[in-house]
Amino acid sequence: MNMQTAIQELDKRYSRLVGTSATNLCTHCGWCIEACHIYQATGDPEMSPVAKAERVRRVLRRKHDWTSKVFPFWTGAKDLTEQELNEWEELAFRNCTLCERCVVNCPMCVETPQIIGAVRGTLTALGKGPEILDQLADSAIWREEAVDELKGAFLEQIGELEKQVQDRLGNPQARIPVDQPADKLYVPLSGAHTIVPPAVIFNAVGESWTMSLFEAANNALFLGDIPRAKRITQRILKEAERLNVKEIVVAECGHAYAVLRWEAPKWFGGPLKFKVRSILEVIDDYVRDGRLKLDPTRNPEPVTYHDPCNLGRKGGILEEPRRVLRAAVMDFRDMTPNRWENYCCGGGGGLVANEDWKDFRLTAGKVKADQIRQTGATVAATSCDNCLIQITDVVDHYKLGAKVTTVSQLVTNALVT
Ligand code: SF4
Ligand code: SF4
Repeated sequence: MNMQTAIQELDKRYSRLVGTSATNLCTHCGWCIEACHIYQATGDPEMSPVAKAERVRRVLRRKHDWTSKVFPFWTGAKDLTEQELNEWEELAFRNCTLCERCVVNCPMCVETPQIIGAVRGTLTALGKGPEILDQLADSAIWREEAVDELKGAFLEQIGELEKQVQDRLGNPQARIPVDQPADKLYVPLSGAHTIVPPAVIFNAVGESWTMSLFEAANNALFLGDIPRAKRITQRILKEAERLNVKEIVVAECGHAYAVLRWEAPKWFGGPLKFKVRSILEVIDDYVRDGRLKLDPTRNPEPVTYHDPCNLGRKGGILEEPRRVLRAAVMDFRDMTPNRWENYCCGGGGGLVANEDWKDFRLTAGKVKADQIRQTGATVAATSCDNCLIQITDVVDHYKLGAKVTTVSQLVTNALVT
């Protein structure tokens, strides 16, 4: 590997946020250490946010900090070596889920995830990103290119799911419209669990909606590969424009919400032509407006809620799921800490996709397991597919004996028709 190329790629990602966080802002006070679920679960000082960031900082300082340029031995600045670069793959893609809990617990607002994100982008540009994320990103692009060939089979599958919606509502007129002009464009994920419950809810309130031909997941974001992430996002924006919708509604998915809600306006030079909301916000409106009639006795078990980092801490969607759950279940119990201080599930940032690192993410999930156990809840709900997969594995691994589900599924259970 040509180290000069690696440094150039890293430099391309040396933004204002990375720069301020990478040079002199960190006072090494240690406040962030306990904030990180990976440090808490492993007890390894190398897993603390400050230690993870420092490994990159000393390389960035060598080039961007005046004292480090002249007297690197004073500041601990180092040139990038091939060995260090190889070790960065685990550092960036495994040892940090970009959850930002360290940021909100840092008195200096040091953006460790921005530093780690710059490393992710650098490694991806050098062909050193995790292969599975690469394949998933490419397959999203391929899906757009092959959409005409795939559409028939897709509509057939949706027809099967439509029958489930009709059965649940006892209404043969219930529909899952796809690719039709409507007020709302709903963008699901690939599983039926992200299609059927929202379809039941939209039909129950008589919404003007249509479903996207594409899924909301954007694995290029995890790779730090912005050109590819933009390309994947553009499929949905073009579709929304073509169908002349007023609003894009994103499935229960943290990173997909982040992409469409605040990354896309940055990438495409300004506000989008349509509103972007999470399905949680839409359901919350239906409940508050009395458009959904819910019977909480249909969810009698104690339920807790895991705030996905992208929706909660980063997106501020904190009260919506709680209002909805209080209306849909008998016994809602918050875990501690919660809302913007909630711990990451341990599988964020694309980690759940990588089978090789499953043991690591299960170890990192111990903090979440303890949080769930302490509530005494027998149902753990969340609003993100990454979290759903990780918490399902965590519940199994730590023998919590709880069911794991989504908010929209609990709403569907409680729906009175
Ligand atoms: S809390 Fe902030 S300033 Fe303190 S060690 Fe962590 S990153 Fe540095
Ligand atoms: S972003 Fe999350 S996982 Fe990464 S260092 Fe900070 S607290 Fe740990």
